[in-house]
Amino acid sequence: MNKGLLIVVSAPSGCGKGTVLNEILKDDSFYYSISATTRLPREGEADGVNYYFISKEEFENRIKENAMLEYAEYCGNYYGTPKKELEEKLAEGKNVILEIEVQGAMQVKKLCPDGIFIFIVPPSVKELERRLKKRGTETDDVISRRVAEAAGEIKQASNYDYVVVNAALEDAVEDFKTIVKAEKLKTAYAENLINEVLENA
Ligand code: 5GP
Repeated sequence: MNKGLLIVVSAPSGCGKGTVLNEILKDDSFYYSISATTRLPREGEADGVNYYFISKEEFENRIKENAMLEYAEYCGNYYGTPKKELEEKLAEGKNVILEIEVQGAMQVKKLCPDGIFIFIVPPSVKELERRLKKRGTETDDVISRRVAEAAGEIKQASNYDYVVVNAALEDAVEDFKTIVKAEKLKTAYAENLINEVLENA
């Protein structure tokens, strides 16, 4: 059995990353890596589902124990990827999705050069602003900050292997699936397949 793919996804907030990933995750060959964080759960979030919500002390112990593949401090809280679960799922052949911000993604790129790095962008910064306003969960001030932050993040997209533009959901999901399909056909990944073809030759 081939090992699964490690797929790292970053996107500025408000560009619909969650909706795209929910569609992808309907296929059970994909596994969403649950991160650990020191931030408090938001309403509706559950421990072990959205995140492992842990204390700062526990998080720092896990860093010392080398139990995190990567971690970053974001808006005053730690976020990190637990290593053990990720390794187990990849060994089971699952395509593991890490939904992480840019600093963490760059750490993973150094550690796991075989990973696939996908950046999801909105069709334009103007459209992102329109979506955030329509969502109506933030004040104008917060929206302006998020929009400015998003523009900065989008400039880092060139550090990723692929860009998916989320203009229409179906197109974004199809692009995502096409990337995964093409990656699986790469010779490096298809080594077992080639050995099978050559068996008894
Ligand atoms: P939120 O607090 O909105 O859930 O997440 C804030 C940011 O942290 C998002 O950009 C999210 O992708 C990122 N994030 C979530 N989990 C991890 C993680 O394990 N590592 C890193 N580096 N970033 C993460």
